[in-house]
Amino acid sequence: SEPIEPKTEEAKPPPLAGANVMNVILVAAECGPWSKTGGLGDVAGALPKALARRGHRVMVVAPHYGNYAEPQDTGIRKRYRVDRQDIEVAYFQAYIDGVDFVFLDSPLFRHLGNNIYGGGREDILKRMVLFCKAAIEIPWYVPCGGVCYGDGNLVFIANDWHTALLPVYLKAYYRDNGLMQYTRSLLVIHNIAHQGRGPVSDFVYTDLPGHYLDLFKLYDPVGGEHFNIFAAGLKTADRVVTVSRGYSWELKTAEGGWGLHNIINEVDWKLSGIVNGIDTKEWSPMYDIHLTSDGYTNYSLDTLRTGKPQCKAALQRELGLPVRDDVPVIGFIGRLDHQKGVDLIAEAIPWMMGQDVQLVMLGTGRPDLEEMLRNFERKHHDKVRGWVGFSVKTAHRITAGADVLLMPSRFEPCGLNQLYAMKYGTIPVVHAVGGLRETVQPFDPFSESGLGWTFDGASAGKLIHALGNCLLTFREYKKSWEGLQRRGMMQDLSWDHAAQLYEEVLVAAKYQW
Ligand code: ADP
Repeated sequence: SEPIEPKTEEAKPPPLAGANVMNVILVAAECGPWSKTGGLGDVAGALPKALARRGHRVMVVAPHYGNYAEPQDTGIRKRYRVDRQDIEVAYFQAYIDGVDFVFLDSPLFRHLGNNIYGGGREDILKRMVLFCKAAIEIPWYVPCGGVCYGDGNLVFIANDWHTALLPVYLKAYYRDNGLMQYTRSLLVIHNIAHQGRGPVSDFVYTDLPGHYLDLFKLYDPVGGEHFNIFAAGLKTADRVVTVSRGYSWELKTAEGGWGLHNIINEVDWKLSGIVNGIDTKEWSPMYDIHLTSDGYTNYSLDTLRTGKPQCKAALQRELGLPVRDDVPVIGFIGRLDHQKGVDLIAEAIPWMMGQDVQLVMLGTGRPDLEEMLRNFERKHHDKVRGWVGFSVKTAHRITAGADVLLMPSRFEPCGLNQLYAMKYGTIPVVHAVGGLRETVQPFDPFSESGLGWTFDGASAGKLIHALGNCLLTFREYKKSWEGLQRRGMMQDLSWDHAAQLYEEVLVAAKYQW
């Protein structure tokens, strides 16, 4: 097909930041497309571009996990102390779509590839100590376009426990010593389930003054007294953001806070919830580069009726499933763990296999769940494909070719796959939690409104009930189905709106004393 010049929502000139133009440095353990294991990588790759479009000067700092094509060695070298050793770091840099991407290079990160969180607890802790120590001084030492950012009018955006040390270092090493007085920090909670927990003795690795220990100490019935990096970051950051309002509410409850709910309640005054946007160049059926070969095709609202069935047929053919348009294709994409509710799908399999459906699952994670996927495929070869692997291309193709996307997550801070699905006219069936509840309004057949099916309670029975209604609509009510598809595709899910909300928080942090 003809190459088309991307003309997305993001191409419209958004309102500019005006008087509030800031220097913003987003620091994350992963950044797509170079490194990605989940939603954090997507956010780190896309939010900065949207902030730059609003007029801010924006940098992303991520570790250099391999050899990347675009970034060039800046020649700058610095040394930082980690676990009583001096470690040299180098900085690679690329300017793409208005954003300075700076990659921190060190033997500690090199060669990890996509095994970003590999190694033992202490290994990853030491890596993150190095990363946060070095990242904070990048605005002093690494020129971008010839000029360093400097530390005035600067806000750091740290993400999850991996970089939650950054706000602490900003205070302990600099602010407490009269440095970086005009620099602020924001900590984003993408997933509270991982907190950087360890024994209290882990504190030595942080290299912080002794009186900082209390910030990290946490007691809960599960872990007893322990060292908790997320706790310290939440207390010291100037502002805290979570990736949906629903999730920020859940975090304040004993069930949803994973031991940190008391702290989240204490910092409620500086907490906001902002739903992630999607990168509408990467995730749009119109411009998706993974739909340009192997029988797939790009499509839009106007060509939905021919384009999507063509993608569905291509997917069925590629996976060796019977090529039939009348059978609903149900997709699942995600990390295979307890969070994503893969076991609920397993429980629902006997029921599902009694239906005329095709089920396509893609994921990696817990070895027993990977084995389960392979077993499904072996046992139900005429109906099921269980693809164990991390394949961005396959994720795109399933999103385009499936009719239904299943997300029975036990908890879901934001969730991106349901957003991608809706943009591709694929109907989400989701557990009504966190970001899923916030982004998938349930279908109402009487008013012909809503975007998909939701169910309350993580049980196979509830999933089956919701999926049953969804399949009935697919088979019997074509008009309603198309309405669902069109409403989903017409939404503005771009980062522009979310970036504006982030900007409000950045401005609030800037005037925070
Ligand atoms: P989480 O961050 O909890 O993993 P999200 O829904 O926020 O969940 O984001 C997951 C991201 O990772 C999406 O971009 C999804 O397409 C991608 N992803 C997850 N598993 C795979 C896989 N096996 N292959 C390719 N992409 C995947």
